[in-house]
Amino acid sequence: MNYQTATELAQIGNRSDIQTGAVSAPIYLSTTFSHPALGQSTGYDYTRTKNPTRTILEEALANLEAGSQAIVTSSGMSAIQLVFNYFPAKSEFLVSRDLYGGSYRYFQELERQNASVFHYFEDFDSLKSQINEEITAVFLETPTNPLMQEVSITEAAKLAHQYHALLIVDNTFSTPLRQQPLKEGADIVVHSGTKFLSGHNDLLAGVVVAKEPEVGQRLAWLSNTTGPTLSSFDSWLFIRSLKTLKVRFEQQERNAQKIAAALENISPIEKVLYPGIGAMISFCVRDAAKIPEFLNRLNLITFAESLGGVETLITYPITQTHGDIPKELRESYGLTDHLLRLSIGIEDSQDLLKDLICGFQVFDE
Ligand SMILES: *Cc1c(COP(=O)(O)O)cnc(C)c1O
Repeated sequence: MNYQTATELAQIGNRSDIQTGAVSAPIYLSTTFSHPALGQSTGYDYTRTKNPTRTILEEALANLEAGSQAIVTSSGMSAIQLVFNYFPAKSEFLVSRDLYGGSYRYFQELERQNASVFHYFEDFDSLKSQINEEITAVFLETPTNPLMQEVSITEAAKLAHQYHALLIVDNTFSTPLRQQPLKEGADIVVHSGTKFLSGHNDLLAGVVVAKEPEVGQRLAWLSNTTGPTLSSFDSWLFIRSLKTLKVRFEQQERNAQKIAAALENISPIEKVLYPGIGAMISFCVRDAAKIPEFLNRLNLITFAESLGGVETLITYPITQTHGDIPKELRESYGLTDHLLRLSIGIEDSQDLLKDLICGFQVFDE
């Protein structure tokens, strides 16, 4: 029976241990599993291949993203590496221009090694004008990190499939609560599970979800072969965190909507980039020279990289998350030293706003 998302989330792992009735799923630390007899298996042989705690998590994530199979890994980057490992050497990819800085760094490295070729698109028109039969897959973020540019997954999937390319979506920012790329035609979804899905700034994890079983099986085979495996303890922590995803995300989003609206009326701010959903807000200040002092002035909001957690963070992308993108290149598409990025937490929005307004006073001094 299929329940509503809130119910599915809260119930992850419950009734998984019939023997004891444990409500919180057990952590199976065993790396190996005994065989009943030669040629027989309980379904579990070795933890890199499959682990009961991880299986509960993977089934929940496949369900949440409406896919056939999920694979959890030790970080978002290992999830992205697993996906690119799926394609033959020398493949050509078409990827979002505005992109998480670590993904960009990895793509640059693949290109430096002559392992694959990357082309970058700014919007749907540039995607359309660059796609051809040589492209093996399209990889996109929507909204993008940190410029919040959006592209239609449905349209991108239609276009990619016309050219026999797969569509991969990094769904870290929107989460499956706001966007289910596989339902819109994408073939593979990836996540940094470190962000909203686990949401407490205490767990590094990655997620890959495939629509088609054959793709999922091949990815699981590759994961077993190369070993980017998430430990059973971290799998349990991920399950525990996922149970509250909906309440956390809704509170974060409500706060973000209020704060984005308030930022529109603050004079040191030149523009606010907020797509209307989710808890990520970027904004540009008129006077970049005041940013160090502004960051110093904040008492509640923490200056740190990462996002999606219950604590509100502020990031200066050009020195942190996107520090590896050359200045000239990032400035050419609008990622300037004027831009700051907020990841809104679950605190009271009034307290967050007061902290920001107090910080913004440095621009008038
Ligand atoms: C953080 C992030 C990643 C990388 O994930 P890690 O868990 O830090 O390895 C990938 N994509 C996006 C959009 C991210 O924000």
